[in-house]
Amino acid sequence: MSNITEGAGTARPLNFLEEIIEESIARGETRVHTRFPPEPNGYLHIGHAKSICLNFGLARKYGGLCNLRFDDTNPVKEDVEYVDSIKEDIKWLGFDWAGEYYASDYFEQLYQWAEQLISKGKAYVDDQSQEQIRQTRGTVTVAGTDSPWRNRTAEENLDLFRRMRAGEFADGEKVLRAKIGMAHPNMLMRDPIMYRIIHAEHHRTGNTWCIYPMYDYAHGESDSIEKITHSICTLEFDVHRPLYDWFIEQLGIFPSRQYEFARLNLTYTIMSKRKLLKLVENKVVKGWDDPRMPTITALRRRGYTPESIRAFAERVGVAKRDNVIDLGLLEFCVREDLNRRAERRMAVIDPIKVVITNYPEGQTVEFVECVNNPEAESAGRRKVPFSNTLYIEREDFMEDPPKKYFRMSPGKEVRLRYAYLIRCDEVIKDGEGNVIELRCTYDSESSGGGSSDGRKVKGVIHWVSAPHAIDIETRLYETLFTKENPDDVEEGKTFLDYINPDSLSTVYAKAEPSLTESEVGDKFQFERIGYFTKDKDSAADKPVFNRTVTLKDTWAKLNR
Ligand code: ATP
Ligand code: MG
Repeated sequence: MSNITEGAGTARPLNFLEEIIEESIARGETRVHTRFPPEPNGYLHIGHAKSICLNFGLARKYGGLCNLRFDDTNPVKEDVEYVDSIKEDIKWLGFDWAGEYYASDYFEQLYQWAEQLISKGKAYVDDQSQEQIRQTRGTVTVAGTDSPWRNRTAEENLDLFRRMRAGEFADGEKVLRAKIGMAHPNMLMRDPIMYRIIHAEHHRTGNTWCIYPMYDYAHGESDSIEKITHSICTLEFDVHRPLYDWFIEQLGIFPSRQYEFARLNLTYTIMSKRKLLKLVENKVVKGWDDPRMPTITALRRRGYTPESIRAFAERVGVAKRDNVIDLGLLEFCVREDLNRRAERRMAVIDPIKVVITNYPEGQTVEFVECVNNPEAESAGRRKVPFSNTLYIEREDFMEDPPKKYFRMSPGKEVRLRYAYLIRCDEVIKDGEGNVIELRCTYDSESSGGGSSDGRKVKGVIHWVSAPHAIDIETRLYETLFTKENPDDVEEGKTFLDYINPDSLSTVYAKAEPSLTESEVGDKFQFERIGYFTKDKDSAADKPVFNRTVTLKDTWAKLNR
């Protein structure tokens, strides 16, 4: 078997999970069955995208299957809205699950297995409060102490557990614990809680249950029911693995195996559904799909493509040690993808008026032919109206320029993208000295890149024709946090203290009229400015464009 794999167009060495799988294939164990197990308590974020690409990707690569399993064992925080959004996001990323499962569908089986463990003397009902249980757990160096209820008989435990299920007890009055040992060196093995009482309606099972299994009990058993071969989770679960194995061994059920990889962390971002929910609830953002959020739904609205996110996951790779990825890498991936697929348009974000004084008066509308995408000949060309009154970017003019400034300045010539050479003859200002208009002359023989006498000009700037331009709203985004690691908080602060007040600027721009025909979700490169996508907030007379990413690529420069 080769030890090189194809991904994102480049060959790379196998990651450690692929190595494990290929070794097992070599031993004759050819079945690969993974699962993606989100808890439906929020929208998926880019970290989940990493896990999705990994789980679905491994199944695809090795001809296996990947299940979607909702880990819905906590009735209090979960909701159908989240279930629906999770399915939509996975599909959008380009994956399809072998089966849609719910841990809650296994409640009866899990319950029966719990009774089995009780009968074997491997689990007991404890009357201590969760607080008492925490306090008697000991420390890493000191053994915990046995619960006074630890030695109940199997009969008594069975009776109490059945009465727990029947609803005879209030929340917190009793729990079911595995009987492993209070001196176990791994704290998680010190008689961990398997079930707690929660009198709450579950989004799928309604009021059928008032006892709910804990993650550690439900997860491995659910994997086993589905005959998952590779249960991939993030590194912090490695200490849970002995417990994962213990339950499976005690029950003698299908031996799923757990493997851990490093979770994705990104600079200037938080990656926890709980914290993202806070941003929504506190109205720091406008919703889960606010384009500043790291959620998949927000990235989609921002203009990210599934291809760019898959390429990002591929580039990040699968690590066994925690690390933080530069947000610039994600931006690099979307830029690379949009460069190939986004048609070019011209828009002027901060307009300054240009009047061409020698342009023929009363001429019928002239159209300039523009290339839609120099990276894709098949994208064709379009005609953009030209006239004697244009807008150019304020940033492209300097009255008193330094040397090597090739854009517009008094007396200097510059090329209008796909159109003529113009020279600035006169600068008109208002009473306060602000430049309000540039009066220019053009070389009528310079269209399409030439000039009347073969002279060459270095600067090329974008423009739109003033009488033809449409008004668009652009939303320019910066990072949502001012701190590279918003989770690393100073004393007395929370991640909410590092919100960037300038994360969104709304700017009205002038754009070429062809953008009127665009539809929500269409993606463009506004020449020299960045990649934009049409937002769902657009109205017929007021298109709104989100800036996905600027054109400036610092990441590639630093890392290539
Ligand atoms: P959160 O704290 O955001 O709720 P979670 O791990 O509790 O994260 P789950 O819905 O339980 O969220 O996760 C579903 C799957 O996605 C799990 O297998 C989990 O390990 C994986 N996952 C979650 N966050 C990341 C991340 N940042 N990087 C990689 N995988 C992740
Ligand atoms: Mg969780």
